[in-house]
Amino acid sequence: MRAWSVVRPGPVEGDPLRLVERPVPVPGPDELLVRVRACGVCRTDLHVTEGDLPVRRAGVTPGHEVAGEVAAAGPGADGFSVGDRVGVAWLRRTDGVCAYCARGAENLCPRSRYTGWDADGGYAEYTTVPAGYAYRLPDAVPDVAAAPLLCAGIIGFRALRRTGLPAGGRLGLYGFGGSAHLCAQVALAEGATVHVVTREPAARELARRLGAASAVDLREPPPEPLDAAILFAPAGDLVPVALRALDRGGVLALAGIHRSDVPPLRYETDLFYEKELRSVTANTRADGREFLTLAARYGVRATTHPYPLTEAPRALRDLKAGRFDGAAVLVTDPD
Ligand SMILES: [Zn+2]
Ligand SMILES: [Zn+2]
Repeated sequence: MRAWSVVRPGPVEGDPLRLVERPVPVPGPDELLVRVRACGVCRTDLHVTEGDLPVRRAGVTPGHEVAGEVAAAGPGADGFSVGDRVGVAWLRRTDGVCAYCARGAENLCPRSRYTGWDADGGYAEYTTVPAGYAYRLPDAVPDVAAAPLLCAGIIGFRALRRTGLPAGGRLGLYGFGGSAHLCAQVALAEGATVHVVTREPAARELARRLGAASAVDLREPPPEPLDAAILFAPAGDLVPVALRALDRGGVLALAGIHRSDVPPLRYETDLFYEKELRSVTANTRADGREFLTLAARYGVRATTHPYPLTEAPRALRDLKAGRFDGAAVLVTDPD
């Protein structure tokens, strides 16, 4: 099979990825072999490829938004049959026994493993996934549309729930890429008023088309105080900007695995009046299942930009440069 390998982590403008020929992986005990149909391109793939995240597996194949089909099952891999549509996401394994796992916070498990970082992911014609961590894909959502739901969608959903946004509340989204545009659709379907702040004109247009009440540039504040906000942009210097846009008692959730440093905060303007700052770390499988169910019910649709699997580096460069709105998806055709 063909697979992309991070041979030398570094800027995507260089040559960190190589397309290699590898044997189709053999699913281990409790694993499924998945024929990849589509794999979303997530900012975390960029961090893995560029070395912002430390190398956890040399020559890893990135990609953790896989929509595909079960091609084979290893010994003891239950719950799926060959031919079933299946989704593979970021959270690959947890130990299931630590204090965090025991209290339903498996996203915090210190022994968790991740697809496309600890193990080879979906920038390939085939990948594997532990059956217990695979998702059933809703019939109503085709592969290319389903792929970005599996990380961008799930993490945006967890971030939304982390804000505790009250029903009918005012939500600010800072940055409006793959994750935010899916999160916005859930919030809107649940009755929120959504305000978008992004420097990208195309993203502001997409926000308005989806039903955002306002979409402004970074220099402008949203037109009303916010009950909650989510910072999707990887820029730490936006933390005080978003905190100042909150109403009293408002909550700011920080989505994203990698972010530049947060500058000093001013207690008076940024935190007083019971404003809260919460980070978001990965997701639980329960988040994933709930989101996929709601995405099908609400008709959440990713705005997608398909690239052939062979053009993964271009997709990553375009993501880095903000050349598209919505989400890039690598499309594989193994035949
Ligand atoms: Zn654990
Ligand atoms: Zn991701």
